[in-house]
Amino acid sequence: MPENIKVEQIAPHARPAADVAAELGTDIATGLSSSEAQVRLERSGANELESEVAVPAWRRFLAQFKDALVLLLVAAAAISCIVWAVERETSLPYEGLVIITILLLNAILGFVQEGRAEKALASLRAMAAPEASVVRDGEQRRVATRDLVPGDLLIINEGDTVSADARLVEVVELQTLEASLTGESSPVLKSAEPVESEAGIGDRLNMVFAGTTASFGHGRAVVTATGMSTELGRIAGMLKTTKSPTTPLQRELDHTGKQLGVAVVVIAAVVVATLLVLYGARDAATVVRVLMFGVALAVAAAPEGLAAVVTVVLAMGVQRMARRGAIVRKLPAVETLGSATVIASDKTGTLTRNEMTVRVLVTATGRVELTGTGNSPEGELRPKDQQKLEGPWKNETDELLRAAVLANNAELIEKDGVWSIQGDPTEGSLLPAAKKAGLDLGEVHERYPRVAEAPFSSERKLMSTVNEDGGSPGHRILFTKGAPGMLLERCTHELSGEQKVLLTPERRAQILQVTESLAAEALRTLGVASRSLDTGGPEEEAGGRATELERDLVFLGLIGMIDPPRPEARAAVERARAAGIRPILITGDHPGTAVAIAKELGISADDRVVTGAQLESMSEQELAAAARDIAVYARVNPQHKLRIVKALQGNGEIVAMTGDGVNDAPALKSADIGVAMGITGTDVSKEAADLVLTDDNFATIVAAVEEGRAVFSNIRKFLGYLLSSNAGEVLTVFFSVVLARPLGLGDRGMLVLPLLATQILWINLLTDGAPALALGVDPPDPDLMRRPPRPSGEGVISRKMRWNIGIVGVVMAVGTLFIFDASLPGGFIDGPGGIEYGRTMAFTTLMLFQLFNAFNARSYVHSAFRGVFRNGWLWAAVGLSIALHIPVIYVPFLQAAFGTVRLSGGDWVLSIAVASSVLWIVEGVKFLSRIRQQPATAEGPLTK
Ligand code: ATP
Repeated sequence: MPENIKVEQIAPHARPAADVAAELGTDIATGLSSSEAQVRLERSGANELESEVAVPAWRRFLAQFKDALVLLLVAAAAISCIVWAVERETSLPYEGLVIITILLLNAILGFVQEGRAEKALASLRAMAAPEASVVRDGEQRRVATRDLVPGDLLIINEGDTVSADARLVEVVELQTLEASLTGESSPVLKSAEPVESEAGIGDRLNMVFAGTTASFGHGRAVVTATGMSTELGRIAGMLKTTKSPTTPLQRELDHTGKQLGVAVVVIAAVVVATLLVLYGARDAATVVRVLMFGVALAVAAAPEGLAAVVTVVLAMGVQRMARRGAIVRKLPAVETLGSATVIASDKTGTLTRNEMTVRVLVTATGRVELTGTGNSPEGELRPKDQQKLEGPWKNETDELLRAAVLANNAELIEKDGVWSIQGDPTEGSLLPAAKKAGLDLGEVHERYPRVAEAPFSSERKLMSTVNEDGGSPGHRILFTKGAPGMLLERCTHELSGEQKVLLTPERRAQILQVTESLAAEALRTLGVASRSLDTGGPEEEAGGRATELERDLVFLGLIGMIDPPRPEARAAVERARAAGIRPILITGDHPGTAVAIAKELGISADDRVVTGAQLESMSEQELAAAARDIAVYARVNPQHKLRIVKALQGNGEIVAMTGDGVNDAPALKSADIGVAMGITGTDVSKEAADLVLTDDNFATIVAAVEEGRAVFSNIRKFLGYLLSSNAGEVLTVFFSVVLARPLGLGDRGMLVLPLLATQILWINLLTDGAPALALGVDPPDPDLMRRPPRPSGEGVISRKMRWNIGIVGVVMAVGTLFIFDASLPGGFIDGPGGIEYGRTMAFTTLMLFQLFNAFNARSYVHSAFRGVFRNGWLWAAVGLSIALHIPVIYVPFLQAAFGTVRLSGGDWVLSIAVASSVLWIVEGVKFLSRIRQQPATAEGPLTK
């Protein structure tokens, strides 16, 4: 591209396409060379809208301290250092230093966790990075849209999102939706002809713009502007980085966290007030210490960081799903997937392989079968009853296949002896079939050059081309293929031998009958027809479009093709059923084909099917009633899909629905989980979807449901663990204050607290870190997919979970206070007997309580001993926590810092024995609940 040409100077819409292409240095047949594209990319920069600069790491680290409680604690620690400086009671301001150190460690933990979540989300965005089709080096390829450069030859198909501004050089009924730029909601019919240079954006019919989508037809265009130079870039200006939206679960947890935070602050305030009022504020140092204790308690117990841990677990779930072929586009889908009750799936490509092979041709004379497999043109045509395919019959099949080759946009390619199809598999399958019949594809295309096309759409279920007849100048022919029912409505005659005969009602019924029987063999059916047109006839002069010419057709015959089920689909259907999820088949195909495949895969046991036409005559109530048990919908179009989603949802179902076409977007948006196809899906459908399948495979949806359930169940595990651990800490302190007198802790003028501020913070640091994260990656329960889905609308913290948190909290508090009381002078434990000793025992016991409790949290139904070694991370986390705790008790410097003394082997045994009680007691509770045999749901029975 000449250096000095600016896009504005070209005014590409006002000039002929060829001029624009020439000026941009592009060959409109072969596009740019890849080396030239590379050079231009360096010069023009990536085709991206600029986003806000990222927040630097140090600011993100500092943000960890922005919590009011943490700030209060920092202030208290600072004051305690000042008090130390005045009083100099110890050699170092231990308390203040330890608190600040722990807060720093906490901040690092939070920072690392957030960093991981961010990274995971960023790699997600990269996975979903959009691509565009271009011609480079004369070949069609997919490139990342950020690599598009001015001069690139862009290919635009129905359903594509346009990713740069470009001047159209060729259009076939191309229509685009430009509401994002112009606000105009109806589609704009494009052309390649120049328009006035003053034309506004909406009137530049020969341009396509970044951010708009192609809703129909196809075309080619030369890129004129990328990135911030596009019309979209101009409007957008500086785009703020869109923050990832929070999920309902995160919002719920945020809300719960805030409520619990307030409760904890109130309890801490009561503790502080009680200490100050009942036991007096002797001096400033005591007041600071009491305040610090209260704030430390609040900081340790307030679960405000829950949402961040949830993000990490969600993000890890998302990565596991990605490894299994499901790319999550919207985070809430991870949670919703776990409660899906219906998977409504397309057939072609999702349940079947989308590898079509023509098996049968039926013309007026009779049925012919084709041998051979795959895309290879090796094989032959075998007429029924060992008759000979010759004369009029041969003419019929030749005419049929010729039309099928011409009304076709696919290509058959041979490379190193391997045959492959480029384009739509349905169309592609017709090419080897034609070769098997002896047609020369090149010759056919040469003799009948195409002049117009009416593209296929899921609504019309037809596709036509208008071709010149090179053998008889001035003569044009329309070739049409499509769903037999739709096609027959437009036919008046049939080709019989070499004759055009009138289609009688009886013959129509007969053809439909044959279609049924082909469909019952699980064959996908296609009808083919043609019609002679006179060049310059009245229709053409009136500017008739190809779609309007599809009438008075001559029916040429039927084609039946197989598309074998995916080998893994049957097992996946079974897994879904076992998990209480109902699979439903929704297809544009013939009802017979749909039922045959549904039966083969176990989706349906009978012949019941609702067709698009029947659906249209049903009221909402009738549809809702039918939707309760119908498993197969056939000949539906995208609007019907939307009604089916709504009917299912009206029945209380949580619907995962697949879609690939441009018009599937509304249904995908309405479904609880919209699932788009990564390979065959249009950009529009992917943008509307929550989940994109990289392999278009039904089994992947089931795998994603399993991961979704596992994520939700793990979130419950660590949530239950964290909340019950915090309850243990708070209740220990709370009981020690309110029950001080009966326990004999408060009658010496000053209350004896069982734990110091530093000790509480330490326990919290150890247990909130590694064990909680290890629970977040707990391997899924083996029977996760043998339970019914979680009831929708059930909160993440169920009533039973609350009970569990309460029981564990009380057990921990009672056990810790018991050990403390027993270790004090006069207590029954025969230790050294000082307060430090009592606190060290209480401190260690409470810490061990948390570690035992981590095993409880792995399941709320099953014994903690079931598969106890399956989560290696949890054992590592427990080991790490103990390894970090031991120096605090034995290293003199740390003893001074934490106010601890060394413990004997006997002390450890006692401490472990008491701490393990939480395991035995919860085991007992689980046992009782198993006996009561509550129906378990996917994430544990703690639902009622
Ligand atoms: P699903 O993917 O939902 O299972 P489908 O992909 O089979 O459905 P469509 O692609 O809408 O559904 O096809 C519906 C019918 O339209 C087919 O049964 C076939 O008869 C006809 N058809 C499909 N593709 C073409 C095409 N390229 N040209 C003409 N007719 C076609």
